[in-house]
Amino acid sequence: MSECVFCRIVAGSIPATRVHEDEHTVAFMDIGQVNPGHVLVALKAHAENVYALDDAQAAAVFRAAARVARGIRAAFQPQGLSVYQANGQSAGQTVFHFHIHLVPRHEGDGMALTWPVKNPAREKLEEHAAKIRAALR
Ligand code: AMP
Ligand code: ZN
Repeated sequence: MSECVFCRIVAGSIPATRVHEDEHTVAFMDIGQVNPGHVLVALKAHAENVYALDDAQAAAVFRAAARVARGIRAAFQPQGLSVYQANGQSAGQTVFHFHIHLVPRHEGDGMALTWPVKNPAREKLEEHAAKIRAALR
């Protein structure tokens, strides 16, 4: 049996409160509930992070996330909804099985992600973009 907590949820060997399931994904209530209606959309297959997804998995997981997001909006009427997804410990990932957070948001709910903008010169943006374009070739 896998040691991975989300593989265990997928297998049904530990409890989870499910909201949606399809061929590639399962969505269930996050046990921490940052706000009521906080859902995780996870791949059924064990893929550690975004880099490990194939195209079919990537498409399926965001399709499911968008669908569940519409369900959360209808059920809770939040003022907003944050889509959050962490890769690696430095990014805040704590469960190393790919998942997307859907967090209903309300003014003053205390959820915060600091966003230290640097506003670099256009030349710097071009330099960084060129590196990514080269890597994508
Ligand atoms: P992350 O920090 O993005 O890797 O998020 C992991 C999330 O998994 C946290 O928000 C936890 O509350 C949630 N979590 C961990 N174990 C369980 C579990 N057994 N059932 C539901 N959610 C879980
Ligand atoms: Zn897993």
